[in-house]
Amino acid sequence: MILCANPKAQYLAHKAGIDAAIQRVLENGRYVLGPEVAAFEAEFAAYIGAGHAVGVANGTDAIAIALKALGIGPGDEVITTAHTAVATVAAIELSGASAVFADIERDYFTLDPAKVEQMISPKTKAIVAVHIYGQPAALDELQAIAKRHGLRLVEDCAQCHGARYGEKRLGSIGDIACFSSYPTKNLGALGDGGAIVTSDAELAQRCKLIREYGWAERYVSHIPGQNSRLDELQAAVLRVKLAALDADNQKRADIAARYDRALAGAGLVLPKRRPNTSHVFHLYVLRSQKRDALLESLKQAEVGALIHYPVPVHRQKAYAGRVRGGESLPETERAALEVLSLPMYPELTNDEVDRVVSAVKRFTESA
Ligand SMILES: *Cc1c(COP(=O)(O)O)cnc(C)c1O
Repeated sequence: MILCANPKAQYLAHKAGIDAAIQRVLENGRYVLGPEVAAFEAEFAAYIGAGHAVGVANGTDAIAIALKALGIGPGDEVITTAHTAVATVAAIELSGASAVFADIERDYFTLDPAKVEQMISPKTKAIVAVHIYGQPAALDELQAIAKRHGLRLVEDCAQCHGARYGEKRLGSIGDIACFSSYPTKNLGALGDGGAIVTSDAELAQRCKLIREYGWAERYVSHIPGQNSRLDELQAAVLRVKLAALDADNQKRADIAARYDRALAGAGLVLPKRRPNTSHVFHLYVLRSQKRDALLESLKQAEVGALIHYPVPVHRQKAYAGRVRGGESLPETERAALEVLSLPMYPELTNDEVDRVVSAVKRFTESA
């Protein structure tokens, strides 16, 4: 079976460094919010090209805390996409705000700026732009809309560690950016983890307070907070993987190029790249009118293709019928019927990629 993502292969590829980092933490004796977290925060902020990073427990918390730190909560609306991990929408509601859906661009699967502008109401306070699959959203246009209407722009960077928008890294462009280090992400931990990045020192400080009970000093809460601390073990692992992130993303790009070459002309819609940006291929997502049959055929061939995501958020029982904007999302609906993710992780060998390609072609040539 060729897996779609393979965190164990990532561990084995970086085993010596990870084992040493874990041993260092075990012997240091600090296990949450210690020197490894502080070092990871400094290294990650520098990597993204932003002033500050705040380590948190997971990507969902990162978004919820970022919104709270921006002063967004009950009575406010936050516009986002329904073509995303449920976590994006769950996080908006965790902040107390209401999510509002806008449709996506067909070519890039990210928020359509014109559709976002149509959904703005007097209650709108922010846009959460999701850089889905490792592909940058239309940030110039979204930033212009945010400016025009006095909104905050939050980047959901859970799938795009290291991607560039022009010369800048994603995560350094919006008011604040939120990362997940769930094990399968481009910068994945060996458990849950996340980070918030911003160049606004005051905002970063508010995130730090909210992360731990609003504590300005131990046992003294200045604002209401929660517990979303990052472990030392995860921070130490993330430091090892951060040093390898650009090389790992290059491997993903090489695999994507190999898929592109081999599958050109097979009657599939292959991933497009937004001009002047880099796509870090968290996922390699193609479109097919015969998606369900293709998925079944790949399963028979022991190729672990997956659907990201089979049920758009506005169609899920938890959200259906109660989120503004969910009534009309034709591109989101269409994407959910057509997308299919081929195996993609840095350690995938050329031989495995070629086996995936053969299985896809066996289907497209017979169908
Ligand atoms: C993974 C993911 C999240 C949430 O991250 P967790 O660490 O699982 O909470 C948020 N948004 C997107 C787009 C994701 O892919």
